[in-house]
Amino acid sequence: MTNALQSLPTDEFIAGIEAIAPRFDTATYPQQNLPADDWTLLTRAGVLLPTLPAEFGGRDSHVEMCRVVEAVSEWNLPLGMYVTVITGVALRPIALWAGEAAKREVLPQYAGGDPMIAGFASTEPGCGSAMSGMTTTFQEVEDGYRIRGRKHWQAFSSSAHWWLVSAKNDEHGREYGYFIVKRSEGFRTLRPYEPLGLKVIDYGLNEIDVVVPRHRRIRAEGRNLRPMVEMLMASRAMMAAMGCGFLRRISREAHAYADARTIGPGPQSAIRFVRYRLAAIDTSYTICAALNDYLRTRLDMKADMIGAFPAVQAIKTVATERMLSAAHHYQQLAGGEGYRCGSPTNISAQAFLDARVYTIFDGTNDLLSQQLTEYCLARTDGLPLSKFLAEWPLTASAITSQGLDLGFLDRDLRQEHLVLAGRAIAYAFAIGQVMRWAAQAGGDAGRARAAIEFLKADIAGVATEFGLLSSGVLGIEDGAVPPPADLRFSRSVPVPAAEV
Ligand SMILES: Cc1cc2nc3c(=O)[nH]c(=O)nc-3n(C[C@H](O)[C@H](O)[C@H](O)COP(=O)(O)OP(=O)(O)OC[C@H]3O[C@@H](n4cnc5c(N)ncnc54)[C@H](O)[C@@H]3O)c2cc1C
Repeated sequence: MTNALQSLPTDEFIAGIEAIAPRFDTATYPQQNLPADDWTLLTRAGVLLPTLPAEFGGRDSHVEMCRVVEAVSEWNLPLGMYVTVITGVALRPIALWAGEAAKREVLPQYAGGDPMIAGFASTEPGCGSAMSGMTTTFQEVEDGYRIRGRKHWQAFSSSAHWWLVSAKNDEHGREYGYFIVKRSEGFRTLRPYEPLGLKVIDYGLNEIDVVVPRHRRIRAEGRNLRPMVEMLMASRAMMAAMGCGFLRRISREAHAYADARTIGPGPQSAIRFVRYRLAAIDTSYTICAALNDYLRTRLDMKADMIGAFPAVQAIKTVATERMLSAAHHYQQLAGGEGYRCGSPTNISAQAFLDARVYTIFDGTNDLLSQQLTEYCLARTDGLPLSKFLAEWPLTASAITSQGLDLGFLDRDLRQEHLVLAGRAIAYAFAIGQVMRWAAQAGGDAGRARAAIEFLKADIAGVATEFGLLSSGVLGIEDGAVPPPADLRFSRSVPVPAAEV
């Protein structure tokens, strides 16, 4: 079965996924954990193959990884996340960084069309954003490594067959390790969690007590958390593919709803403010389409992505904000029917619940925004931040051609400013991508202009928030803890060699 899929041309292969995706239409598909038989439909259509190297039965294609997730997300966003976790988060680091023996042991199991699942276990009840606080430990023993600890909120908590687990060892100074664990070796789910959305995926609180053979430790620098940042970059970047598929659907649904609904003398879509909301939804789709184009053409999930750190932080934060904001507009337009589970007229309630967590998981957007600013500050070389950004390849074109004034960033940036500044930098990056997208074949100048104006308004909003913070009326100083004097930047932010 998969042999035939392995040799299909890309468009035919993706057409097969597009043909099967509507069966999972979120309007009709049950809000429940995905049954194994349904997962088999997708694995037999080849959704895992682009992630796997050809020698293990895969199609080994970055572009196809993106296109599969975009196609699935258009019909069922949570299913797009389902595929992303297994491919981009769990199997990708194994394919890239594990030794030959571990790859041979694990990867072929995902190429045969069986309903195999893999997860990534990092977050713990006591830490999610600051992973240096992890308590799960590893210890070298005679047969390999013993790993013990508790993790929570893992996608596929009770159903994954294989895990990638992060752990620490403090015996000779802090060291982090990443291990491939088979569920039956001692990964137990103590308690299931019920998420508000993303119902196709099972979550929970997990206990790990395993001994894994030595060859199942992933090759990675152990003294800091940068390898974990790298391992999370593919799924963060994939938010553009998920957002693009999801927002194509939301735009279509919102327009159809507003055209069909009569309010007063005419259709809802004739009301001027409704048209504004529809335009806001459409610009979010445009922005995600441009970011998705960047993902497909400028990034490569088949290689080390750490060099793309700032672009990926920007993609994740902007794409997920846009998904949430568009879902919010759509739900508002659907009125009371938008607050109804299983409404026959719209999918907005579920769309909002599903989109809600995107700004929270995979690195909370607030933290990622702070890290983006820190990344830039580590490279300004004495220039004011706005001057640096005006020359930086990721933001220069937007700043110059749109005449953006980011001078408000040139001040002493406290933690709250770092977060807000990161948003402004990400919006400037997104403007550049919308411009690039519009300039190429198939781009749409009208759509691009509207999207750019919305992003400029977002930057103006950040400038206003800077002013609000300066007014001193918020009282946020009381109780705020200053950063440690010896730490200029978060430890997981890649800094230039001179700073290491
Ligand atoms: C549906 C879902 C799926 C998930 N899937 C997985 C998975 O498969 N594997 C896995 O290991 N984990 C997973 N997680 C965990 C997820 O990645 C974490 O929840 C996330 O990283 C945030 O960590 P936390 O929950 O501990 O929040 P906290 O670290 O407690 O942060 C909470 C909030 O504090 C604020 N905050 C924190 N730091 C900063 C900062 N520097 N600046 C400003 N504000 C800040 C933000 O508002 C943030 O949202 C999942 C979570 C959910 C809800």
